[in-house]
Amino acid sequence: MDLEARLAELSRISGAATPVVSVYLNTRWADEHQRERARVFLKNELARARAAYRGVLDSDLDWIEAQGRALVEQARFPEAHGVALFACGVAGLREILPVRVPFEDAFVVADTPFLGPLAAVHELVPTAVIVFVDAESGRLVPVSDEGPGPEVALESDVPGHHRRGGWAQLAQSRYQRHIQDHRGRHFEAVSATLTHLVEGQGVKRIVLAGEPRNVAEFTKHVPERIAGRITGSVAAARHEPAHLLVERASDLLAGANLLEEAEAVDRVLVEAAKGGRAVAGLEGVLAAAGLGAIHVLYLLRGFREPGRACGECGAMQPGETDACRVCRRPTKPVDLGAALVERVLATGGAVEAVELHAELAQAGGVAARLRYSL
Ligand SMILES: [Zn+2]
Repeated sequence: MDLEARLAELSRISGAATPVVSVYLNTRWADEHQRERARVFLKNELARARAAYRGVLDSDLDWIEAQGRALVEQARFPEAHGVALFACGVAGLREILPVRVPFEDAFVVADTPFLGPLAAVHELVPTAVIVFVDAESGRLVPVSDEGPGPEVALESDVPGHHRRGGWAQLAQSRYQRHIQDHRGRHFEAVSATLTHLVEGQGVKRIVLAGEPRNVAEFTKHVPERIAGRITGSVAAARHEPAHLLVERASDLLAGANLLEEAEAVDRVLVEAAKGGRAVAGLEGVLAAAGLGAIHVLYLLRGFREPGRACGECGAMQPGETDACRVCRRPTKPVDLGAALVERVLATGGAVEAVELHAELAQAGGVAARLRYSL
């Protein structure tokens, strides 16, 4: 699944005869209690939507209900941490997208698909690779936005340790050196494979996994030019399945992404203050979005701002005023956060939901990197 392509297609859906139902579920259920909460959340939201739309959305809501049940029972996508569902029967839309990061539960019925959380995922989880090493084997587990990819096993024919006593002591120390030599080559081979993958596919982060001594030894063989991408290491044993390694690495990767995101926001705010190819604050961002000039939109997670959007020229404005300030035609109420996300995606830009950022909050919660200076 190409998430970016799906996002672009979803962002073009609007103006169907009936609204679109968008549902986000956190499916990383640790216990029965959390699972029950998801079940209740869906049940209540479905009942509310059925009452509000009186039969208009029945087939869409039936589909959501059936999919939701399968998810909660973990009959579908048991490995996913979050699932997004979109339904709009008259537009031929029935989409279910599992991802590797948990969503906040959300249930939205609107003219267009609610895409903010999905767009945020895309940036939250850049491509990474988890590298398991021990003395004679290696495993590479690539991790993309959609989850772990197929694991690559790297094996070499290093003979195992043999405990020998007495006179063989000398031979053993030799043998040890021999093993060391093989280990060196094994690690070199793993390192060369890793370097190839990382540079060839633009992998941003590496997490090492294994016993500490193996990881430490392996690190010496990683060339300097990719060593900077090592985010950290986690303990792991050879027999453990890839999904456990991914689970352990996920906090490290999320932390590194948050730091990188905060630095990107810092740079945008500095650039905006200098009047370069960036803007900060709602008014500036709305104007840039209207021109299709936004390359990357940064908005604080949970950003909400009531405003209006013009059905005629598409302009967005804060406040309650009915007339469009550009073309004077009537407007309709929107949440400006959601409307901005849709506009930016529809014009080929990217969206990053920012977890916490004091200066961004001070600037009004939104900023953007632009394709050109305004
Ligand atoms: Zn207008």
